[in-house]
Amino acid sequence: MKLFRFEAEERVRLGVEHEGRLMDVAGLFELLGYDAPEVVRNADLAAISAAPPMITTAIRAALSSGRVADAKSFALGAVRILPPIPKPGKILCVGLNYREHCAEQEREVPKSPVLFAKFANTIRGHGDRVERPPTTTRMDFEGELAVVMGGGGRRIPREEALRHVFGYMILNDLTGRELQKRDGQWLRAKSQDGFAPTGPCIVTADEIPDPQALRVRTRVNGAVMQDAPTSEMIFPVAELIAFISEGITLEPGDIISTGTPSGVGVHRDPPVFLQPGDRIEIEIQPIGILATEIC
Ligand code: MG
Repeated sequence: MKLFRFEAEERVRLGVEHEGRLMDVAGLFELLGYDAPEVVRNADLAAISAAPPMITTAIRAALSSGRVADAKSFALGAVRILPPIPKPGKILCVGLNYREHCAEQEREVPKSPVLFAKFANTIRGHGDRVERPPTTTRMDFEGELAVVMGGGGRRIPREEALRHVFGYMILNDLTGRELQKRDGQWLRAKSQDGFAPTGPCIVTADEIPDPQALRVRTRVNGAVMQDAPTSEMIFPVAELIAFISEGITLEPGDIISTGTPSGVGVHRDPPVFLQPGDRIEIEIQPIGILATEIC
């Protein structure tokens, strides 16, 4: 299932994609004669991720009810798509998680995952414009697969880790390269306002049984900059969840961004930095395309 948060007719709604249209989930429930739970009416995907079988099973049943054609729906292009998780408790990111990305910056392959964090002020949605702040002229893109945690926990064993995933989305780990270099650590470079566009939706984990069998493609103004299979991750999703949760409790709605492949702007010859007016599209199927415009 592809779950969206979106705004239409001046309301924030939870949507599910069905035959190319966005079905209003609360409206679908009401049509079938039962009250939409508060988490559905509030389009609270972080809360829904905490109890996925209950809500997602109800949505599936509603979609196959035969009444679905009567439910309120919207054309995808006619609504404002919002970030699926607007205020995540944690945004955990992984640096240097693709071999070719280590090679392009002449860095050794790390022996254990390199973690850093972004703050919630970075979150934006599909189609949003992100300002290139006055703090950086070397703004760069990083196309990444992002994990949304479902049932969280501590000390999650690797072999059980994927069962703790609610779903997957795309994250653009925008970075101010001169800040990253100058500061000696990455916090300011990675957490400027708007530096984590996410979405466009969450694809539930049942539809992506193997997160290492996807492909990440990034285009800037139509030119392909990154194109790599997620099988090239040094530390796969299950191992990242096990590693992080050794001492950090993961909670529903927490985001883990799994690192970027080679081809980022700073390591190109000549380097490519984002300018106002540039459009970045990150494509990971079956999730879709996350588009961001720089202003
Ligand atoms: Mg990154």
